[in-house]
Amino acid sequence: MGDERLVEASGVERPTPAVLVVNDRESQRVAIRAMLAPLGLEVVEVDSGRGALRAVLHQTFALILMDVRMPTMDGYETANLIRQRSQTKRTPIIFVTSFGPDDTETLTAYASGAVDFIFTPVQPDVLRAKVSVFVDLFVQARELQRSLASITTLNGALRDSEASTQAVLDNVADGILTAGSGGLIESFNRSAGALFGHSGERLIGRPLEFVIAPACRDEFRGLSTGPGGLLGNDAGQHQAVETLGQRQDGSTFPMEVESGEMRLGDQILTLLFVRDISERKAHIESLEHQALHDALTGLANRTLFGEHLLRALFAARRNGEPRAVLVMDLDGFKRVNDTLGHEQGDALLEQVAERLVGALREADTIARLGGDEFAILPGGPTDLATASEVAFKIERTCAIGFQLEQEVVQVSASIGIALFPEHGTTTAELLRRADMAMYVAKRSGSGHAVCDAAAEKQTAHQLALLVDLRQCIAREQLVLHYQPKINLVTREISGVEALLRWHHPIHGLMGPGSFMAEVERTELITPVTRWVLDEALRQQRVWRYEGVDLTMAVNISARSLGPNSSLPATVAELTETWGTPPEQLVLELTESAVIEAAAPEILDRLHGMGERLSIDDFGTGYSSLAYLQRLPVDEIKIDRSFVMRLEEETDQAVIVRSTIDLAHNLGLTVVAEGVEDQTPLDMLVAYGCDSAQGYFFSPPCTADELTKWLTESPYGAATGVGR
Ligand code: C2E
Ligand code: MG
Ligand code: MG
Repeated sequence: MGDERLVEASGVERPTPAVLVVNDRESQRVAIRAMLAPLGLEVVEVDSGRGALRAVLHQTFALILMDVRMPTMDGYETANLIRQRSQTKRTPIIFVTSFGPDDTETLTAYASGAVDFIFTPVQPDVLRAKVSVFVDLFVQARELQRSLASITTLNGALRDSEASTQAVLDNVADGILTAGSGGLIESFNRSAGALFGHSGERLIGRPLEFVIAPACRDEFRGLSTGPGGLLGNDAGQHQAVETLGQRQDGSTFPMEVESGEMRLGDQILTLLFVRDISERKAHIESLEHQALHDALTGLANRTLFGEHLLRALFAARRNGEPRAVLVMDLDGFKRVNDTLGHEQGDALLEQVAERLVGALREADTIARLGGDEFAILPGGPTDLATASEVAFKIERTCAIGFQLEQEVVQVSASIGIALFPEHGTTTAELLRRADMAMYVAKRSGSGHAVCDAAAEKQTAHQLALLVDLRQCIAREQLVLHYQPKINLVTREISGVEALLRWHHPIHGLMGPGSFMAEVERTELITPVTRWVLDEALRQQRVWRYEGVDLTMAVNISARSLGPNSSLPATVAELTETWGTPPEQLVLELTESAVIEAAAPEILDRLHGMGERLSIDDFGTGYSSLAYLQRLPVDEIKIDRSFVMRLEEETDQAVIVRSTIDLAHNLGLTVVAEGVEDQTPLDMLVAYGCDSAQGYFFSPPCTADELTKWLTESPYGAATGVGR
């Protein structure tokens, strides 16, 4: 009977193991072929399920990589047909599929006994690790069939010669044990002796199962081969089975077992082929570990996290249990990376990973998704309360300072939580929504936040905006509007304030209130500030050349006043470029910006260059004039909230009046913002306010509109435009 086992499962056998790639997209086939190239395999490509069926008729494949989504006959259907042929029944199939909308399909396939999965975008390491495993198995099975063939051939020549048979067996690399009809061991070769640590005759007479670890013996009880035997299948083909072998000293090792039969004279012997697969297993494990773990922290990577989550969701769906996904990001990581260098940044990430592992339970999956982003899948059913507890634990453990080489740094965690099933039912959806919630947490500084549709919409909007914002300068979508400042003594225009506007291709003209906060939060603040200064000074020069001298006020945000500010250099360069007389540039700094300014010396530098400094929104920042007196400030702008209530509230009038008096005593000029009506204007004039700005005179308008206003408005007369 041995002969029939020697026949190839189907088709022609070739020396190089072959892999069949079934995929309707050429680009994916080409990519997979390129990824597999280092393995030196024969790669056969077909573009349909039908093509796959034809290919397996002609050739034996070590493995099939099957696309799930294909027109006419999909991957599962094709796989089922391949499995129905006895010759290809055992050919391993790896399905290539994607997370997200395919999740449910994937689950179906798991249930239908797929060998394995690879998720797109295919990661080369993962693909190669998985393919290597199956190709190794295939090659070993083929070698074994060869040994068996030679033994059987020799058997004919050396019939009845037990000594010769032993000589042959000893020269086979696999361990081989033979048993008589009772299943008791009659002989074993040298390799088997070495494998189990049995010299002499201690194995002889024991049942074959004796070499298998007791915990695994049950499945091998009554070990026999051939049709109906445990290790044989109905087609009489033998099959390698993985189990644990046991040595004489009781230690165990991963072992592959295969069995066969041999006729020796009139006796039928059972042969057991065994081999130690510890090395192969260790190699595969290390390959898989590399492909599925983050090299820096040793935590799971995104792929492994996705797989764990997928399995967890499958179980949760079946058992009707809630699960949670947490995504966390470190606040302050970028600062560490930027100021202390990448090595210190890496050291910080390693310590964070260690703390997470220490703080969470073993059943929880902790992954590094990339950069300073981590994800946690708490093990077992997780409702909102449990997920929040996990988040608190993480926040607490991250709140303690991290000791780096030179210093202790403080970072904090922002965590987003998404729950299954209420916030999403697929891995992709849950990760995305946890990520959104994380942004919400980061923005509000609240530590952790749970997925919330309204906040998410807002965040999505802001994120989309941010993407657009990065392009706004290059796409020339920014514009400046100008609002006149009127000298209340001469009743004539003294200058303009430049106010930023963004011509958004979809949302239309947007004021700074809807995007400036985002700009200030990011590194965009530097190029945007530069653009505003450049454009304002350019326009001022245009007016100057037309004979209109106007001071130009530009708003500067607090972020531009940090310790390493490039602002003085930019101002110096641009005033030089446009030939701006320094005293004709006013920098408006909000009161809070000035108080927060970590480096007051920057104000001295700007002032020293001749620029005038103005405190914007005065009265909203709780600073006292006495404090401002110590700073090199020339002007205050009384916030419009005070000006607008002048009429109704007498105490507002008192505040405004005394502020004007005090400022004058300190040698500061006073500008009133938000003058909309005649009455407050009259009051301001009566209080001795120097200048005013507001809709009463003109709303902010384009440069052309302002030029027109200069000729038409009585307040524009001083410029002589149009005369
Ligand atoms: P701000 O510097 O206090 O500018 C005055 C704001 O009041 C402007 O709003 C202006 O349109 C508005 N306004 C003027 N007159 C009246 C009035 O009579 N009644 C009322 N209700 N409002 C009036 P806008 O243009 O939306 O600017 C808002 C803020 O955005 C500015 O406040 C300023 O802090 C900031 N900003 C504007 N442009 C820039 C810029 O180029 N850079 C920076 N960093 N911030 C800017
Ligand atoms: Mg201003
Ligand atoms: Mg203001």
